[in-house]
Amino acid sequence: MLQNEENIKTWILNNTNRLSQNIITIPVVVHVVYYNNTENISDQQIFSQIDILNEDFRRLNSDTINTPAAFQSVAADTEIEFCLATRDPNGNPTNGITRTSTTQTSFSTNDGVKYSSSGGKDAWNTSKYLNMWVCDLSGGLLGYAQFPGGTASSDGVVCDYAYFGDIGTASSPYDLGRTTTHEVGHWLNLRHIWGDSNCGNDFCNDTPEHSGSNYGCPSYPSTSNCSGNGNAGDMFMNYMDYTDDACMNIFTNDQKNRMIAAINTSRPGLLTSDGCFNSDYGCTDPLAFNFSPIAIIDDGSCCYVSGCTDPTAFNYNPNACYDDSSCVASVLGCTNPTATNYDPIANTTVAYGGATDNSFGTGGYFNGDQHLLFDSYKECIIRSAIIYSEASNTITFELRDNSGAVLDDTTLNVIAGQQRIDLNFDVPIGTDLQLGVASGALQGDGLYRNNASANYPYDIASALSITRSSASGNGGANAYVYYYFYYDLEVEVPCLNSSNSSWDCDGQGNCYDPGTGNGAYSSLSSCQSNCVVPSWDCDGQGNCYDPGTGNGLYGSLTVCQSNCVVPSWDCDGQGNCYDPGTGNGAYSSLSSCQSNCVVPVTWDCDGQGNCYDPGNGNGAYSSLSSCQSNCVVPSWDCDG
Ligand SMILES: [Zn+2]
Repeated sequence: MLQNEENIKTWILNNTNRLSQNIITIPVVVHVVYYNNTENISDQQIFSQIDILNEDFRRLNSDTINTPAAFQSVAADTEIEFCLATRDPNGNPTNGITRTSTTQTSFSTNDGVKYSSSGGKDAWNTSKYLNMWVCDLSGGLLGYAQFPGGTASSDGVVCDYAYFGDIGTASSPYDLGRTTTHEVGHWLNLRHIWGDSNCGNDFCNDTPEHSGSNYGCPSYPSTSNCSGNGNAGDMFMNYMDYTDDACMNIFTNDQKNRMIAAINTSRPGLLTSDGCFNSDYGCTDPLAFNFSPIAIIDDGSCCYVSGCTDPTAFNYNPNACYDDSSCVASVLGCTNPTATNYDPIANTTVAYGGATDNSFGTGGYFNGDQHLLFDSYKECIIRSAIIYSEASNTITFELRDNSGAVLDDTTLNVIAGQQRIDLNFDVPIGTDLQLGVASGALQGDGLYRNNASANYPYDIASALSITRSSASGNGGANAYVYYYFYYDLEVEVPCLNSSNSSWDCDGQGNCYDPGTGNGAYSSLSSCQSNCVVPSWDCDGQGNCYDPGTGNGLYGSLTVCQSNCVVPSWDCDGQGNCYDPGTGNGAYSSLSSCQSNCVVPVTWDCDGQGNCYDPGNGNGAYSSLSSCQSNCVVPSWDCDG
């Protein structure tokens, strides 16, 4: 929380010009989760809510005139707009609305509505979309929101179906859509205007201090005893108070700055989201997996490789750009039946996991002693990990038990920047094991750590689970959003006492020990460097082949074959040969086409009684004789 506030403050200071430059448009998906038909609100009611958001955030609301003169000078057009998504996370066309029938009669603030597993609806990629769930909330709750920096899968706002939009089921006095305006304010890091305490701080200088929340519609001015409450009294008409919808009409400039800063620091994915991409653009090739039947202009996004796109899955296909729901979870263990620690459930002896890299949330180099905590369910070895060092340095990396006693360590010379380091830590079965560095090791130069948006737990092939970090700030909440030092961990369960280790490639890019001793490779590393996902290229002669590099253009042989046609040529009637791309051209070789593709001889009259061939096949006469009989010398007579 404090770090978050620092980031926001720093961003605002460094971007005073940026604050009034561009309109930011946020793609929205509305998930209607309904128990009965009444709760299944209409598209029109959803449209009315999006319209209200665009009016309120752009200060185009019809009731700006109700803002008291004393507050008019701080009233803001936030330059934030909202659009219902036109593309879903798979790139397919959408109206930005999902509808889910549920057996849950109502939901609470426990986020049940945000997961299919609890009768709700899973979020769309929360870094690209503002997810809004509309359902029956129990206990008279109007709505609630998640602040920036929380768990990704539950990010968004929830609103009761009776307080969404301004038609249909919208119910007085919360029937003008301001509940959602308020919740989206929270989602963009705005605090309640009274700072949630008596004369509390909402981190905005242009809002007066309030002694508490307001309800109904107070008479102006409504003053309090707070020292920061002036003659104009409470700004009870601010969207971040609790007054009736008809009484609200203002965001302030400082609230605007906080929201713009929150988007740029905590939600930057919204700035590049293609969620509202013009649907005239898309993949226009019917053979591609993401073909858009409504796209008119091809935007180069066509994807021909389907497969598992989850990097942690056993059958991850690095070439796949379209997920076909085929992902199989990795299960780490010894796969050799002759080994003493053979695990019949395991499908891989090596797995990778943890945060993939440091590109999420925010963060920086850190000089203190902090660590990750994890549980281990199998004896295994942490082979290596990626780190980011501020400078070249000598660092002792440590694996410790849950009391902080060192179980294994290694001292390495690291270079500045990103690198994979070998650790070879022997991990016993245990809980709350610590992965950190020796005390004081980073005092001079730090290692990178993220201070927002970590997504615990990080499961590594059912062998390890990184559960949290040692960060203690923000009432303990930082433990679940900070992530320290160790990225993309490589974990192995070596087979023990195996009589005959050898490896084969499974044809999907993974190595396994067949247990027979007859595998094609004698070492795992030699297998891995030769074992690539099958892919296909067209050889230009109508044949598909696997280049063996994993980098073929097509992920499926069928798709390759339908795109890979024998070259053929047609004559364009103007003396030029071209390949129609269908395999059906009249000539099978370019030379035979060219020798047959000549401009037909035609004739035109030159107006002086002579016939000539214009050379382009477009003459008016197809034979010389017909031209000559029509082509006469002009002559004149006097009419007397
Ligand atoms: Zn609130």
